[in-house]
Amino acid sequence: MAKVLLVLYPDPVSGYPPVYARDSIPVLHGYPGGQTLPSPSAIDFTPGELLGCVSGELGLRDFLESNGHQLVVTSDKEGPDSEFERELPDADVVISQPFWPAYLTAERIAKAKNLKLALTAGIGSDHVDLDAAIARGLTVAEVTFCNSISVAEHAVMQILALVRNFIASHQWVTDGGWNIADCVERAYDVEGMDVGVIAAGRIGLATLRRMAPFDVNLHYFDTRRLPDAVEKELNVTYHPDAASLARSVDVVSIHAPLHPQTYHLFDEKLIASMRRGSYIVNTARAEICVRDAVVAALKSGHLAGYAGDVWYPQPPPSDHPWRSMPNEAMTPHVSGTTLSAQARYAAGAREILEDFLSDKAIRDEYLIVSGGGLAGTGAASYTTGSGASPGSSGK
Ligand code: NAD
Repeated sequence: MAKVLLVLYPDPVSGYPPVYARDSIPVLHGYPGGQTLPSPSAIDFTPGELLGCVSGELGLRDFLESNGHQLVVTSDKEGPDSEFERELPDADVVISQPFWPAYLTAERIAKAKNLKLALTAGIGSDHVDLDAAIARGLTVAEVTFCNSISVAEHAVMQILALVRNFIASHQWVTDGGWNIADCVERAYDVEGMDVGVIAAGRIGLATLRRMAPFDVNLHYFDTRRLPDAVEKELNVTYHPDAASLARSVDVVSIHAPLHPQTYHLFDEKLIASMRRGSYIVNTARAEICVRDAVVAALKSGHLAGYAGDVWYPQPPPSDHPWRSMPNEAMTPHVSGTTLSAQARYAAGAREILEDFLSDKAIRDEYLIVSGGGLAGTGAASYTTGSGASPGSSGK
């Protein structure tokens, strides 16, 4: 019998929804590039329902309990008196979502004597101290590709929201105004702009593909270069480093994982090297940017806008400066947890659990850490070393 500790965000303040805006979600048949969708033996939920909150339980209770396992679900994750810390010492599996991360620090991993699997219901496992996970021989797995397209759609939306000054214009309407000049004094077309991505993995490439029809000039930097054919198809300019990309674009959209190479990449110096009036969109991880450097650049006008849906910590305090800085188009961390994405990562979490609990190999592309080192997608997209995993260290 295994004890599975599942940390999810709280239910809606109005209660678990009795009815949804739409009756179904589209049925997909595969991911771009050929990766197959999650393939558990069965699912016990209705795709399109809210699964990522406490009452949704990722649809895992029947499966786990009918197989003799224990499921504990909580949203109480901060501090030594939290339910998460109380339940952690004898948990075999911890499941958490990046939107409401249960930070698995080295200290918490040391307390979790039975822990074998840290499963991310989503993508991005920087909330787990990967060095500590490697040292302990844990497996860290995530549901690769489950919400990559969800995030790319959000990034495109945030690029347009910033450049076209959507948020401020919408505000004039809800405030009862018709202030055209106030709305458009900061509004531009993206057509003709230089738009670049930092990292052209699953999300970054999907963002490039979605921006191409806007007739922009595309740019990217990634430590792994795209195939020639893809560069030609998108007519995208490759940059050898982040600095070259940053000084060459009007809009940068960040899509790299958070690891020692990307921690605080967008600092005061790199932002200062960007064209005056540039925009940054960050749906990757907050700590890729230096928090106060972003605030200062927006206040000085060097940056024309910043949009993101990732913060540190999560949830952020009510006085976090990104809530009140000028010309922001922030969302809470929602881009990868649409009802559409939840159906995929709930199914993927079940697939990973089924394999883990029956001693079968977890798909290579789902692995971040395994067998005492980075593995699978982790080996391709992350680095370790230089101390603790940034997201979990509070640096
Ligand atoms: P991916 O593994 O397909 O792509 C990551 C890419 O980053 C790879 O191409 C890799 O080569 C590149 N990369 C790694 N280190 C780099 C560096 N130092 N400089 C430049 N490029 C580098 O992953 P993905 O599905 O595209 O997701 C990327 C990240 O987006 C995740 O790790 C996660 O942090 C974030 N994410 C956010 C949300 C959300 O809801 N906001 C959802 C999913 C993923």
